[in-house]
Amino acid sequence: MNQVKIKKNLEMNIMKQHYMYTLRSLILFILSFFILKNSYSLDIYKKDMTEVSDGIYSFGSFSARSFIVISNTGIIITDPVDPINAQEMLKAIRKISDLPFRYVVYSHQHWDHVLGGKVFKDLGAEIISHSKCLKHFQQHKHDDLILPDRTIDENTSLTIGNKTLNLMYFGKNHGDCTLVMQVDGDDVLYVNDLVTPYSVGLGFMPDYDPIEWIRTLKELEERDNWSRMMGAHGIPIAPKEALVQRRRLLESLMKEVKKEMDAGYRREELYARIQLEEEFQNMRGYDLHIKRAAERIFHFYTMGW
Ligand SMILES: [Zn+2]
Ligand SMILES: [Zn+2]
Repeated sequence: MNQVKIKKNLEMNIMKQHYMYTLRSLILFILSFFILKNSYSLDIYKKDMTEVSDGIYSFGSFSARSFIVISNTGIIITDPVDPINAQEMLKAIRKISDLPFRYVVYSHQHWDHVLGGKVFKDLGAEIISHSKCLKHFQQHKHDDLILPDRTIDENTSLTIGNKTLNLMYFGKNHGDCTLVMQVDGDDVLYVNDLVTPYSVGLGFMPDYDPIEWIRTLKELEERDNWSRMMGAHGIPIAPKEALVQRRRLLESLMKEVKKEMDAGYRREELYARIQLEEEFQNMRGYDLHIKRAAERIFHFYTMGW
């Protein structure tokens, strides 16, 4: 084959890959619209292993998702979720790689993400979390919760073979020990519970700080080295706009609650009156969560935390 032909073949392959990738993103995007609002018509709790980038996977279902990095020498997982999920994840990973498990990173302190770590610790993985998670783990003990082997206080990079995972800390937001993650040179940002794409899941979390959450999302928005995000619940992958939408949702909620408070409304009367823009009403879980989300913001304004 002459040089021109080889180059042409190469270009065709790259084009093909690009189209496949675009098609996959498009299908996921269209799918997300079908599962907006409170529709349960799809089997959304069936677990999947979705490769979202080269060697980067999302494992789980709408209930909970884990970010997985597979390099040429080993595997990093986040959030085992619970012992049963950890076993299922191990099985799913073993279908695509038999490399050793090097690290388990806890994304934050909540039990719905951090149980079941023993499965991977027994296989030699080191468990890592932000140091501020430790007091939560000690105060809220659980039989299936393995304490981290190592805690970090500042941004840290974990390199295994040809991949480096950056663990980034943005202070208080969804609790006070959330780590945002990104593989060097990749456009996917793992924001875990900071954003559940196209969903309103805010109501029941007493330990989130709305002002600091908005600040964190703005800081992430300003970074131009990523274009897609992965959350720890919901669909496997979403465009950056999903994070922007979550930030605007929080701002809208705070503005509306303040407006009703200034008009003299309190508690139940206020919660019932809250109505956000139509765009947010179309988000999944709006009807279920909006009153409780308003209640959380009302208490934030009246209690100061
Ligand atoms: Zn959480
Ligand atoms: Zn969660």
